[in-house]
Amino acid sequence: MVSRKKIIREILEKYRVIWSLRLAGSLMGWDQETYMPPKGVTERSIAGSNLAVLRHQLILKPDFVELVEKASRKRSLNDVERGIVRVLKRAIDQARKIPPEHIAEFSKTTTLALEYWKKAKAEDNYDIFKPYLAKIVELSRKTAEYLGYKKHPLDALLDLYEEGLTTDDVDSMFSRLEPGLKRVYDKIMAEHPVPEKHPLEQTKYNVESMKKLNRKALDVLGYPWDRARLDVSAHPFTIGIGINDVRITTRYEGFDFKRSLLGTIHEFGHALYELGVDQRFIATPIAGGVSLGVHESQSRFWENQIGRSKPFVTAFYPHMKRYLVFLRNYTPEDVYLYFNTVRPSLIRTEADEVTYNFHIMLRYKLEKMLIEGSLSVDELPEVWNQEMERLLGVRPRNYSEGVLQDIHWSMGSIGYFPTYSIGTLLSAQIMRRIKQDIPNVEEDISRLRFRRIQRWLRENIHRYGSMYPPKELVRKALGTDLDPEVYVSYLEEKYLSR
Ligand code: MG
Repeated sequence: MVSRKKIIREILEKYRVIWSLRLAGSLMGWDQETYMPPKGVTERSIAGSNLAVLRHQLILKPDFVELVEKASRKRSLNDVERGIVRVLKRAIDQARKIPPEHIAEFSKTTTLALEYWKKAKAEDNYDIFKPYLAKIVELSRKTAEYLGYKKHPLDALLDLYEEGLTTDDVDSMFSRLEPGLKRVYDKIMAEHPVPEKHPLEQTKYNVESMKKLNRKALDVLGYPWDRARLDVSAHPFTIGIGINDVRITTRYEGFDFKRSLLGTIHEFGHALYELGVDQRFIATPIAGGVSLGVHESQSRFWENQIGRSKPFVTAFYPHMKRYLVFLRNYTPEDVYLYFNTVRPSLIRTEADEVTYNFHIMLRYKLEKMLIEGSLSVDELPEVWNQEMERLLGVRPRNYSEGVLQDIHWSMGSIGYFPTYSIGTLLSAQIMRRIKQDIPNVEEDISRLRFRRIQRWLRENIHRYGSMYPPKELVRKALGTDLDPEVYVSYLEEKYLSR
C-alpha cells in the first residue's frame, strides 16, 4: 500500500479514473505511431482530443481539487505522499491557469504548423512555415503570461518540461559549459585524433539482420521482454503505458548501422527508468519519470557512457560481427572510432558527444530572444546561421540544414531543448558517481554484465518515479547539483588523452 492516510487514499481512488484515461491515451498514441493504418488518423484525433477534455474536467472537478488542496496543507505527509500531492497540485495549477480556448487554439495552430513545417522543409522554403512559427511564438508568449513567471517569460515554458528550471539555471549551465567545450572541440579539430569521416557511415546493412542485432543488444542489456516491447516508427520514442508495460521504437534507414543500434540503446535507457519505478506506485501520479532532463540522463547514460565506450564496443563486437557480416573487415578499434567520430555537423540529430551541446545552446539562445521579442521570425534564419558559424565554424547552405531542421517548434515545444543538454551532462556525472560507488565497474561492462549498474540506477534514481522534483532528486542521487565541468573533463579524457 502506497499510503495509509485516508485523504491520500481517497485522492488516489479518484485519480485512478484520470490515470485510466491517460493509459488509454498513451496506448492510442503508441498505436498511432506504429501500427495504425494511415486513414485511421481522423477518428483517432477526435477520440484523442475528447479523452484529453475529459481528463481536464476530471482534474478540475471541485471535490478532487478540494481534497488535493486539503492534503497539501497537512504537515504529517511522508515523502511519497508529498510527491503525490506535489504532482497533482502542479497538474491542477496548470489546468486552471490556461483557458481551454487557448489550449484549443494552440492545438489547432500546431496541427497546421506541423503540416506546413514538413512542406517547408521538403521544399526548402522558410516562408511557408514563417507565419505559423510567428503564431506559435505569439501563443507561447501568451501561455507564459497565463502560467506566470518571476523573471523571464521563457521560465514559465521551461518549467513545463523540467519542473523548476529557469533561464538563470540554463544561462549559468551554458556559460560554464561553452568555454570548456570550445576548448576541447578546437583541440580535437586541430589534432584530429578521430577520423573526420568513416566508411561505415555509408555501408548498407540488411534490415532483418539489423533487427536481430538490436534485439541481441537489448537481450545483453537485460531488457525484460515480458514487460516491454520493441517496434518500429519514423521517429524513435519510448512510452510508459504502465510500470509493467513500457514500449520503445527504433528505425531502420538501411545504412550507417550505429544510428539504429545506438538509437535502440538510447530508448532502452528511457525504458529502464520507467520500468524501475517502485511497484507500489502503480496507478498513482508519481509512476513514471520526473522530467525530460532526468529522463534524457538515463537514455544518454546507456547510449554514450555505455554504448559508445571502449569496453562495451570491444565486448559487443563479436555479436555485431555475427549479424553484420561486413564488420569482418573492421576491428573493434575501427568500430569504436566509427561510434565516436567528431565533426562539425549542421544537423543536431547527427551530432556527436562533443558538438551536440552547441546545437542546444544555439536553439536556446534563439528561443529566449523570440519569446522576449528581441528577435523576429524574419531575422531568425540569418541569426541561426551566424550563431552556427560562431559556435561550430560551419554555415548552413539552405533552410533545411538550418532553421527548418527540427520538428520541435512546429509542435509548439518551445523551452524543450535545454533538457537534452541537462540529460547529457547528468549522464557523465552519473557515470562518475557509479565508478566511485561500484568497484571495477569497467570490468562489468567488458563482460557485458549490467546488474550492478542497473541496481545502482534503480536504487538511486528509478524507483522514486516523480516523487521528488528533479533538482532534489539529482542532489539526492549524486550528492551534488548539475555540474558542466564533469562533462568537459569526461570529453577531455575520452578524446584528448590517447
Ligand atoms: Mg531521448
